[in-house]
Amino acid sequence: MKLIILGAPGSGKGTSATVLREEYNLAHISTGDIFRANIKGNTPLGIEAKSYIDKGLLVPDSLTISMVEDRLSQDDCKAGYILDGFPRTIAQAEALDEMLAKQNTKIDAVLSIVVDDEEIKNRVAGRRVCEKCGASYNVVFKPTKVEGVCDLCGGVVYQREDDKPETVEARLKTYYKNTQPLIDFYNKKGIIVEGDNNKNPEVCIEQIKEGLKAKGLV
Ligand code: ADP
Ligand code: ZN
Repeated sequence: MKLIILGAPGSGKGTSATVLREEYNLAHISTGDIFRANIKGNTPLGIEAKSYIDKGLLVPDSLTISMVEDRLSQDDCKAGYILDGFPRTIAQAEALDEMLAKQNTKIDAVLSIVVDDEEIKNRVAGRRVCEKCGASYNVVFKPTKVEGVCDLCGGVVYQREDDKPETVEARLKTYYKNTQPLIDFYNKKGIIVEGDNNKNPEVCIEQIKEGLKAKGLV
């Protein structure tokens, strides 16, 4: 099964993707995580990407698309995957269609995670992530057991530079301008499955599983 998970920054895409990848045994491809790993490793891609990410802007399509193409060609993607954070523009979605057509395959479903704007701003302000394993926490809704330490791996938990309030506004604007149009793009293909994440992740994931069942995918 090949899935895309779509939603505003802070909508809980990453959290839902982590649950679903276990449930359905999928490779989890988070472009944000790949960029952050490159930034940490000071690679040329990381240095270039950082200048955009820190401003709440999208990394240019050319860089992002070739990075994803490379990732999708790796062995662990053969059995199926969940794309988290890609595509984020119509150009990326079209490039993805082309990549997959070459391999005689296609995306089975696009999971659209829905959360109100006000709620998003609250959640992002409190978000903290583990430097080592990428696990996501929230100082209000889901604190770590020990302050600043990841429950899962003991890694250091920190606030992403782009989660500071000034940047969150810019990221939301970028989302509505560039990424929101993808909902319509995939709606036309009839492959959207919606999950409402205003209440809690369990409700959202249940809705998604039901939607996948209704489409005969699981
Ligand atoms: P979130 O979904 O919370 O905004 P991500 O971790 O998915 O965060 O992405 C962080 C940043 O990485 C984005 O704001 C953007 O600058 C960059 N990025 C991630 N994926 C893409 C993409 N597909 N195209 C362009 N930029 C991307
Ligand atoms: Zn961790």
